[in-house]
Amino acid sequence: MKAIYLTKDPFSARIADIDEAQLPEGDVLVKVDYSSINYKDGLAITNTSPVVRVWPMVAGIDGAGTVETSAHPLFKAGDRVILTSWGVGEVHWGCLAQKARLKGDWLVKLPEGMTAREAMAIGTAGFTAMLCTMKLEQLGVTPASGDILVTGASGGVGSVAIAILAKLGYRVVASTGRLGETDYLKSLGAAEVMDRKALGEAGKPLQKERWAGVVDSVGSHTLANACAQTKAEGVVTACGLAQGMDLPSTVAPFILRGVTLAGINSVTAPRPIRERAWARIAKDLDRKLLASMTEETNLEGALAAAPKILAGQVRGRLVVDVN
Ligand code: NDP
Repeated sequence: MKAIYLTKDPFSARIADIDEAQLPEGDVLVKVDYSSINYKDGLAITNTSPVVRVWPMVAGIDGAGTVETSAHPLFKAGDRVILTSWGVGEVHWGCLAQKARLKGDWLVKLPEGMTAREAMAIGTAGFTAMLCTMKLEQLGVTPASGDILVTGASGGVGSVAIAILAKLGYRVVASTGRLGETDYLKSLGAAEVMDRKALGEAGKPLQKERWAGVVDSVGSHTLANACAQTKAEGVVTACGLAQGMDLPSTVAPFILRGVTLAGINSVTAPRPIRERAWARIAKDLDRKLLASMTEETNLEGALAAAPKILAGQVRGRLVVDVN
């Protein structure tokens, strides 16, 4: 079986032929059809930050395919399954590979009517966009509350978030460094597109109230400014760090406007939340829009795409046909 194989000292990322017997322990063997490239895969494949903690590693935090063998009570041979995160591709061999041995506890069934390719076009990024949406809803943000800011708009999380929120009736303002993608962002459902420069540098602790809710995949000054511009009782969901891991903010938005900063962690989201999120994605994400934000590549292309996603040069989502 072929896989993207990462070694340490010296670091290398290459496509290798691996004997299936070398796969790590797990109670479900999956024949992978598709994987995808997320920001974290970019970090792992370029060894840019210490994402990989066990060496050698097979990359790929996401996979979708068919169960070959299973000792897990929820899954049997022939089941179509999805894996996102759980440390796969970081501490457990991943899914940029033709087969993966995984823990059944990590898997969910592919929703009825969804293909493995669509599931990977969604992947961790799209799943996270839905977790952000569900958090906004849970904390009372409705389409009537006002505008929703989506940062990192042309990226994976951002593109899926725009499509979902717009379909649910929210008015979405997309913040991007790629104003040339304005037509693309509007085609996904953005009502307005703004230059990310307006959010990217240090700003005042409290600014004019603009947002009822925020989906932020960027962090740093962008997140700080988003909080400072959020309306009283509004909700900011923070899921990413494309600009930086820092948060140069003050407590002012939280104690003077009652803004909620809600963290989103897709990696270990428990099964009931995962199943709810995938069911919601199946219902609330337009498949034609999903197709329009998706490009396909193979394992060689995945190696080449890794530095590009870190440079903010991948638009939307990249699925990987591993076969
Ligand atoms: P992408 O690279 O697809 O999207 C990130 C986007 O952020 C880019 O497309 C770009 O959008 C914007 N961006 C990039 N660099 C900068 C910068 N220096 N300043 C401001 N904006 C920038 O990545 P993903 O969508 O896959 O992931 C986005 C983030 O979310 C990552 O940090 C990732 O680690 C995190 N993440 C977290 C998860 C969790 O569980 N919490 C799960 C999934 C992802 P544009 O060109 O439109 O400005």
